This record gives sequence, structure tokens and C-alpha cells, in this order.
Amino acid sequence: MHQDPYPTTSEEPSAIVQEYLNKVSIDEPLPVDQLESIRQQVKQLLIEKNAVIVAHYYTDPLIQALAEETGGVVADSLEMARFGSKHSADRLIVAGVKFMGETAKILTPNKTVLMPTLEATCSLDVGCPADEFTDFCDQHPDRTVVVYANTSAQVKARADWVVTSSIAVDVVDHLDALGEKIIWAPDKYLGAYVQKQTGADMLMWDGSCIVHEEFKAKGISDLKQVHEDCAILVHPESPQSVIDIADVVGSTSQLIAAAKNLSQQRLIVATDQGIFYKMQQAAPEKELIIAPTGGSGATCRSCANCPWMGMNSLQNLLQCLQQGSGEITVDTRVAKLATTALDRMMTFKQTP
Ligand code: SF4
Repeated sequence: MHQDPYPTTSEEPSAIVQEYLNKVSIDEPLPVDQLESIRQQVKQLLIEKNAVIVAHYYTDPLIQALAEETGGVVADSLEMARFGSKHSADRLIVAGVKFMGETAKILTPNKTVLMPTLEATCSLDVGCPADEFTDFCDQHPDRTVVVYANTSAQVKARADWVVTSSIAVDVVDHLDALGEKIIWAPDKYLGAYVQKQTGADMLMWDGSCIVHEEFKAKGISDLKQVHEDCAILVHPESPQSVIDIADVVGSTSQLIAAAKNLSQQRLIVATDQGIFYKMQQAAPEKELIIAPTGGSGATCRSCANCPWMGMNSLQNLLQCLQQGSGEITVDTRVAKLATTALDRMMTFKQTP
């Protein structure tokens, strides 16, 4: 029987994910003079309100640049959490998606956490409703519950561990060495990758990232034939067929480090294109090529740009500073429960 070497793995989003996708609205780009005016207003308000921008690698490069210029940070979700918890500012302006704001609030309950928009979410978060997940865990009480950072505060409250993609393999390896069986949620592709790396006994939740799920091994391999000297960098939220052809698999921070350290001058990158801002800074001499999505049928939904990350703009960032809008609150009882699992993530020592 003929076997497709590069099976298409992406599926239609679930009804709940589609419902959130239908609500996405992205601000129109502004003329340069208006952008500069907004930038200056934001800078002034950050000082007046003792606030700092904590931005994710996938946000608009304009936001990333402003975060850097004003003493904020551009990072992955683990470093965003670390930075926010240590910074002396009274207000954290978290540019990213909602679970990042919630994590910041849980870790720094004494600070005001604002987000440019509260509508920015994540298919992994909304695809793992807390009540269904709790039922799932309750059916397997003998298993240690490990959840990815891309989950709601309520799901984290049910977990024993929270992990980011930068420490997922090490944490699961550590638990496996202790003889623990694991429930993993919500990303099935990252879970399968971690399972393959560690050999751990993992029961998976069926969730996926609508951005990474769209990368296609066939398209990437075709591109590699055109640029034989290139390296393929892949985030492990991508399908197994894409991971299988990668030269480097890693979290956003690990991919940026790899871009700098690899000898190849040309890099095909399978993650959100927002990462190019920091990746190009780290490796200015390299040519970065976004990995193809959607295949020849042009079916891609995201085209390597997270629609929810794209909802963050300089306009709504200014608005949240001016009006104090987009404030994140987390129920005290939920926050207390989630803190235990988050603290384990924050204090886990990775193998060098
Ligand atoms: S890129 Fe994927 S995992 Fe990241 S926020 Fe968007 S939907 Fe979620």
C-alpha cells in the first residue's frame, strides 16, 4: 500500500475554537506620523504610571521594539513570567494572549496587570475547558497532571505542574524518572514530541495550536530542495511529520539561539513569523524564510501569524495605559491553587 511520506495532519478547528476565531478583529495599520505620535504617548504614560511592557515574541514588531526601547522585555512565556514577577513597576502591560496576563497576575497579585485586549486568546486555552479537563483528570487519579502554560488559570489550578515548551522535556523526564504516570494537556503535538523524547507514560488531551498545525512537511521539504544549504527550525507545537524533518526542534527562545549558532546562512522557520524580529536581531547576517503553510491548496487559516497575537496593537496598548482598560483579574481561590503548579515551573532547574 502506498504511504504518504508527508501526511497532512491539520484538522478543522473545533466549534469552540472557531467561535473565538470568528471574534478576531485586527486594527488597520496606521500612517507613520500617527504611529510615532502613539509611540511617544506610550513612552510618556509608561513613566507616569510606573508601568512596563512585557511582550511575547509573536506580537507586532512595533510593540516588541517599543518594549525594548522602554526597558521592558520581549520573551517567551516563561521569561515573561519571570521578568514580570521580578520587575519593580506597579503595572505590567502584558502584550500577548490572555493566559500570559493571567499567569502574570497569579505570580504578582500585588501588581495591576493590563492587556491591550482581553479578547486575545489561544486555541490551546479555549480547546481545554476547565470543567471537561477536571472530569478527565478525576477519571485518572493515579496520574500526575502536567499542563502547558497555554491554559486558563482554572486549568492550571487543577494541575500539579505547569510547563513551557522550553522545559517540557526536562520536567517530564524528571517525573518519569520518579516513576510517575502523566496526564498531558492540551497540545497533542508537543505532548507526542515530549513522549518520544522521554518515553514517559503520557495520557494526552486532544488540543492543538491553529498556527503551528498548519505547517506542512511537504512544502518545507520542497523548499529545502531549492535551498539545499538551509537548516529547518521547528517549534514542537508542529505536527510530527514537520518535527521529523527538522534540524532543530525547540521553544521560541531555543530557536532564536539556534538561528544565531547554526552554521547555515539560510533558515526555514516553522513558528509564528513575529519571531523574525528578535531572530533577525540575534542573527543579522542570516536569511530567514517562513515555512510554508496550507500546502498548494492555499487552505491556511493563519499563514504563520497567530490571529490572537495580532489583536495587540500600539493603538490598544495606548488605550489600556490611558484608560486602565484590559485589567486581568483572577479569582483568589483559583490563583492560590494555580500558584503551586506555577511555582514548580518557575523554580525547576533545567539540565544544562
Ligand atoms: S500561536 Fe498558537 S499556541 Fe501561540 S497563542 Fe497563537 S494559537 Fe496559541
